[in-house]
Amino acid sequence: MLSNIRVVLVQTFHPGNIGSAARAMKTMGLRDLVLVSPKDFPHAEATRLAAGATDLLDNVRVVDTLEQAIQDCVRVVGASARLRSLPLPHYDEPDDMAADLVEDAQTDPVALVFGRERYGLTNEEIQCCSHQVSIPTNPDYGILNLAQAVQVLAYEVRRAWRRHPQGDARVPRPTDDRMPSRAQMTHFHEHLSRVMCQSGFLTQPHARTEAHLQALFARAEPSRKELSLLRGLLASLETHLEDGQQG
Ligand code: SAH
Repeated sequence: MLSNIRVVLVQTFHPGNIGSAARAMKTMGLRDLVLVSPKDFPHAEATRLAAGATDLLDNVRVVDTLEQAIQDCVRVVGASARLRSLPLPHYDEPDDMAADLVEDAQTDPVALVFGRERYGLTNEEIQCCSHQVSIPTNPDYGILNLAQAVQVLAYEVRRAWRRHPQGDARVPRPTDDRMPSRAQMTHFHEHLSRVMCQSGFLTQPHARTEAHLQALFARAEPSRKELSLLRGLLASLETHLEDGQQG
């Protein structure tokens, strides 16, 4: 279950933070670290601060975009100290987030995403996420060091994992109830945008409308089965619109 929980660090500036984050992860039993375009990696400082967790650095995957890092994941939680204008579902309590993450990780990969030291995650990156989480902190100064934020959330994940019923006691989720991957959600939203343009509802690509609809479906948390119903509906509307255009 813990092996399905990935930590993604976006464009980390200080290589030491990568090492400290790896150490924070390993102490809590997490191993899957993905780096999105780090400034300097591999680096001696990363190795030094990883201490006994250099094996995680050896197995790190480095990718160019956040989308590549998370496309197979069914729940992607962006850690952010500040609230954004995008109305994505937001966890105010990290333990609630960890309970949901651990539940999904029984069957599918999930991810925790951390931003850059200087300016966190961009709005586009937040849009790749299904949820956001903030660590409750001092309102006068609430921004943690990157690796410390990783430590706090990794600890919450471990606590949730320890409390989760394991083995025979747990009831596995039926296949139809599984959450769609981010890639499946992206295909759905592309399909929806196409139909909205074809029908004349959107006269030009309108990022805000699309972002609001993305947030709506993120809150609704459709299952794979529900998403395929919606895809079927869109496909039938598409055929109807094409027939109308030809006739
Ligand atoms: N200056 C940046 C903060 C960067 S801290 C900003 O204003 O957004 C580096 C990363 O640590 C953040 O992107 C976030 O992923 C995580 N982080 C720091 N403090 C946090 C908090 N209170 N809650 C959740 N994540 C936090």
